[in-house]
Amino acid sequence: MRSPAWSWDELMLACALVVDNGWRELRVGEPEVLELSELLRSLPLHEGVAAQLPEYRSVGSVSRKTTDLATNHPSYVGKSTKGGSLDHAVIRAFIEDEAAMLRAARAVEAGIASGELSAVPPQPHETAEDGTTALEGRLLARWAISRERDPGLRRKKIAAVLSEGRDLACEVCSFDFQHQYGDLGKGYIEVHHVLPLHISGPRQTRIKDLALLCANCHRMCHASHKGTSWRTPAELRRQIAGAASQRL
Ligand SMILES: [Zn+2]
Ligand SMILES: [Zn+2]
Repeated sequence: MRSPAWSWDELMLACALVVDNGWRELRVGEPEVLELSELLRSLPLHEGVAAQLPEYRSVGSVSRKTTDLATNHPSYVGKSTKGGSLDHAVIRAFIEDEAAMLRAARAVEAGIASGELSAVPPQPHETAEDGTTALEGRLLARWAISRERDPGLRRKKIAAVLSEGRDLACEVCSFDFQHQYGDLGKGYIEVHHVLPLHISGPRQTRIKDLALLCANCHRMCHASHKGTSWRTPAELRRQIAGAASQRL
């Protein structure tokens, strides 16, 4: 039996180590390798017997993965080890936006250290329809989506909007469920976290971090498109305006 293939989140954490090490591999005896091995073995990503194997994300396998990542960087002179297509995609993501990828890696580490992230069950829409994972990784998407679905936060956001005398309407397209569906739609609206956790960091959610959206606009804010999988309401409004001007 073989260990499950490395996921985006795991590769992101390993690549963050490589980046911190000046794009060089890390050897088995280095403390960071042991730390990452223990962290990966605790991630709620793979289940079943394979994840119980002694070889699963062992220090040896972590060190080998840092070699794959370091030697497949375009500037590496020498022979590259064999890296999978996901390895290459993660390397590209770090080259394109190192700061954002490092922030995402730190957010996953913080979420695991606090125990918060391990407690979140898989969420609907944490992966795109085509099965790919959001660029920031499945774990952060899962965590952020679960926060948005927190009924307490939703209640507080709705109460805040109503107390300002505003309607429960979509902040992007103004769709109002009660207006459209009558009693059936009364009180219905979805809550969207304006900044994803990989940008905001895993701080406590504030009411002003949340926006009210209709179901369509909310899905479009989370759709995977051209490497991004999270949009703010302002970005979605620009997208709608762009689409409208193309139709003219
Ligand atoms: Zn809308
Ligand atoms: Zn959302």
